[in-house]
Amino acid sequence: MDFTIPKDVADFLADMDAFIERELRPLERADDNIRFFDHRREDARTDWHRGGLPNEEWEALLRKVRTMADAAGFYRYPLPRQYGGRDGTNLGMAIIREDLAAKGLGLHCDLQTEHSIVSNHVGLLLMLEYGTEVQKERFLAGLLDGSLGFAFGITEPEHGSDATHMETRARRDGNGWRIDGEKTWNTGVHTAPYDLIFARTRGHAGDGDGITAFLVPTDASGFKIEEYLWTFNMPTDHARISLTDVRVPDEAVFGGEGRGLQVVQHFFNENRIRQAASSLGAAQYCIDEAVAYAKVRKPFGKPLAANQAIQFPLVELQTQCEMLRALIHKTAWLMDVEGTFSASDKVSMCNYWANRLCCEAADRAMQVARRRGNDRRPADRGLHDGSGGVGLGARLPPPRGAVLRDPAGRPRGVRAAARRRRLSPQHRFVPKTGCAVAAEPAARLHLHEASSAGRTSRGRSGRPAGSRSRRGSGWRCAGCRRRRPGAAALQTGSSRQPEG
Ligand SMILES: Cc1cc2nc3c(=O)[nH]c(=O)nc-3n(C[C@H](O)[C@H](O)[C@H](O)COP(=O)(O)OP(=O)(O)OC[C@H]3O[C@@H](n4cnc5c(N)ncnc54)[C@H](O)[C@@H]3O)c2cc1C
Repeated sequence: MDFTIPKDVADFLADMDAFIERELRPLERADDNIRFFDHRREDARTDWHRGGLPNEEWEALLRKVRTMADAAGFYRYPLPRQYGGRDGTNLGMAIIREDLAAKGLGLHCDLQTEHSIVSNHVGLLLMLEYGTEVQKERFLAGLLDGSLGFAFGITEPEHGSDATHMETRARRDGNGWRIDGEKTWNTGVHTAPYDLIFARTRGHAGDGDGITAFLVPTDASGFKIEEYLWTFNMPTDHARISLTDVRVPDEAVFGGEGRGLQVVQHFFNENRIRQAASSLGAAQYCIDEAVAYAKVRKPFGKPLAANQAIQFPLVELQTQCEMLRALIHKTAWLMDVEGTFSASDKVSMCNYWANRLCCEAADRAMQVARRRGNDRRPADRGLHDGSGGVGLGARLPPPRGAVLRDPAGRPRGVRAAARRRRLSPQHRFVPKTGCAVAAEPAARLHLHEASSAGRTSRGRSGRPAGSRSRRGSGWRCAGCRRRRPGAAALQTGSSRQPEG
């Protein structure tokens, strides 16, 4: 296998980046749309009075972005050319999805809602693969323009991983079917006109054969949304639904009677290799943010990045990213060359490891950022630095070199940096002597290192020489041994609590 990114995909990425900068970033900043991504995002997106569903404004904004991405030629990448697509490959999709997620959250990509400017279009791809001519006639145009779609109902309250044990049943009823059962975690059913319901039509619990997929209208008599599950991150669009004596015609069978599991598998493989790539991108984003922060944050006077305890876990994560990227590319390439079902085992491996890696990278990034990892707001409160302060980035400081501006447009950061300096622990040991040596960062570092290594000479109070311990009416710089009056020492801000 050639590991070079194919030229058409590389060109696509470059065009897509330009589109994001040119059209989406300004839209993020307009009308306070950044509220959907910054520390206010959960509230901004959620309609608390409608059971925690996504609110109209949020969904309208996502629709608008999809339309823009479609007009710009990105949205239909995986579709055949005859449907306006680019005959995109699984490998191309994996590379693109990773790239999008690695930029953090934004209008280009929102992992929680599985929104992306390069659509998965799994519904449409399934329709092309499994739909009857009548179904294609009915669904294709609507699936293409987003006006007609279906949710995916396989999981049940009592059966998830063991889907072949599902209790939902469909029985023949004249020239149609009658369906009874319950489904849960039915994503997107609040807007979907149809739900792809999987029901056992023959065989026994545990059999792979005998499960049938039905395209059931969500307004069918007996189809009821019982509740929406509330999730870790709100809003929710995951419903528990019930089917009581729901009647559908034979034409509702999708993918052949008894062959529903094949449809599931197809859906899982195509979807999950892309989800794995997105999780890899998100992991990479967390690592990049952690590294950027470790370079600028200087507790004890030297960059965090200089410490091996910070370096090693990040290097380990980066190594895992490289290994996973190779497996994802290989798996997607196999799917392109040998078919969707050729690498199901590897799709599972990619998905399993990508999800773990993403969680571990997020956890590590939060640990490196420590208190900032727990802060939803951008590093400099109320300010936007152009990166938008989105996702985990909202919790970490802006990238090095970013110029923060206050609402009046003045550059910010100098005062914040000065404040950080005042609060840094080493400054408790550095008197304001006016001494050139003590004013040098390197000297301050030396002072701190000396004290932490236990080499610092100590006064009678037990504090390091040059600390606030008074010697007579003044105190002494450990760097140059010069004395200063006590009053100057009190200006060091040493009575304030150090950062944690
Ligand atoms: C955000 C979200 C969206 C979803 N959207 C949809 C959707 O649109 N449509 C839909 O049908 N479903 C959806 N699901 C449901 C999802 O497919 C199920 O959660 C999944 O199939 C796992 O089922 P379960 O949650 O019942 O876990 P269980 O089957 O109860 O498993 C619990 C845990 O045990 C592990 N486990 C299970 N069996 C074994 C075993 N033999 N050995 C060792 N470990 C085992 C599992 O890996 C898991 O970690 C969604 C779920 C989430 C979280």
